Amino acid sequence: MNKFDKNGLLRIVTLYVIFGMALGLAGCSIQPGVQPPPTLADPTVAVEITAVTQTIPTVTPEQVTLTLESTSEPAASKRTAYQFEADLDYNKHNLLVRQSIQYQNNTSQDLPEIKLVVPANEKAGVFALTALTVSGDVGIMDYALDGVTLTIRFDKPLPDSGSIEIALEYNVSPKLQGGILGYTAKRINFSDWYPFVPPYNAQSGWVIHQPSNVGEYLVYDDADFDLTLNLVDSTGLTIAASAEVAPLDLDSFRIIQNDSRNITFSVSDQYTILTNTTNGITVKGYIFKGDEAAGQASVDYTASALQLYSELFGVPYPHQTMSVVESDFPDGMEYDGLYYLSDFYFKNYDNTFQNYLALLSVHETSHQWWFGVVGNDQALEPWLDESLATYSEYLYIERFYPELANWWWEYRVATYKPVGRVNLTIYDQSDLRVYINAVYLQGAVFLDQLRQALGDDAFFTGLRTYTNTYDHDLATWDDFIKIMAPDPSEAVTALVQEYFK
Ligand SMILES: [Zn+2]
Repeated sequence: MNKFDKNGLLRIVTLYVIFGMALGLAGCSIQPGVQPPPTLADPTVAVEITAVTQTIPTVTPEQVTLTLESTSEPAASKRTAYQFEADLDYNKHNLLVRQSIQYQNNTSQDLPEIKLVVPANEKAGVFALTALTVSGDVGIMDYALDGVTLTIRFDKPLPDSGSIEIALEYNVSPKLQGGILGYTAKRINFSDWYPFVPPYNAQSGWVIHQPSNVGEYLVYDDADFDLTLNLVDSTGLTIAASAEVAPLDLDSFRIIQNDSRNITFSVSDQYTILTNTTNGITVKGYIFKGDEAAGQASVDYTASALQLYSELFGVPYPHQTMSVVESDFPDGMEYDGLYYLSDFYFKNYDNTFQNYLALLSVHETSHQWWFGVVGNDQALEPWLDESLATYSEYLYIERFYPELANWWWEYRVATYKPVGRVNLTIYDQSDLRVYINAVYLQGAVFLDQLRQALGDDAFFTGLRTYTNTYDHDLATWDDFIKIMAPDPSEAVTALVQEYFK
């Protein structure tokens, strides 16, 4: 999508219809290629498969022990706390925001400045800052907004453990047809819409990367969010959010989401809400009218995947709700507590598991662990979450549709003949297909071979240790491989050498 601007809208729509998810989008892309995903009857897929109309699996309570964390714990921690009062004019596609950031310096050093990431300022004309103040232990000297980086210089260094409040006022005007931050006649999406404090690395400083043609570039610490959203006129509108939406009055709503990577919401006059509550977790689907059957299937796959992954990965899903949002942009995209999935997949759902709606529903759900629970540097080590998310599709199939295991490897991986090293950054490769083949598909092949080299016990114990060690933290590839193979055998060493440069 980044390659097309306003004049390309008609072209976008036309191409989109023809090629479906073939267009490039900086999302959790799993593009199968320029052709729509093959159906069961597609003769180009030379795999033996059993055509089945499946019922969606459920996990019985005995299989899962869930201890739900409170999602409304007070912000007494050292996490950065964000408060927003935002006024949305749905028809004018405009969000007016008053934001405060409560930040405590936990970097163990004095800070002469702080840098915020402003993803909404990636493209001109979307983000307009109108006020900025700093109060607390230091004040502001000056600031500069350059692309996605807002640098605020203090009037004196902020000491370790010192605290400040940054108050901002700004306007967000999403672009027509934009994906995660954009609007169409059917919806307006607000994801990565606000300035936030990036992680700080003791050696390299603020962890800020630049957008790329492929992949995601943002890195998030966990934080606490409290959003009051006022709609100019809420008549007929539905809010899909990454946490519970509590009405305050007719046109005002409050969304509290603590200990999360981000807060995201979408508003539409065309959503039908479909739900599935399993073991105390409610999955809500926000589905365009006409796609209800596929929407319910996606919601149900998501609910069962949340149960399965809570069991397999050893850290329960940390929220009480999960939102599945159908949207009219290609591919899908994960956020903490919410994911988007393209309407293309809903419209092409065939009532079996052997299609991209089902695969991507569980893929995006697994990002609640490989992104949400354990965060990582998506720009420099994108395979760390994407290879695990892709392999999680297989883990779901292995549990619920073991007869489709070979089909999955053929349909999802072998068809694309993936080659090359797994550890590309998002800047190493601008061809999306090549990027996906390496990061997602070779990544999944590597993980499967690692599992074979380690054995199932060590592999799954390692995964659970990994999620528990870096629960609501950030992890690196080194962290992962040290936990998975603390004393690597020759076979593991050879694997790493084969798949990583
Ligand atoms: Zn993904």
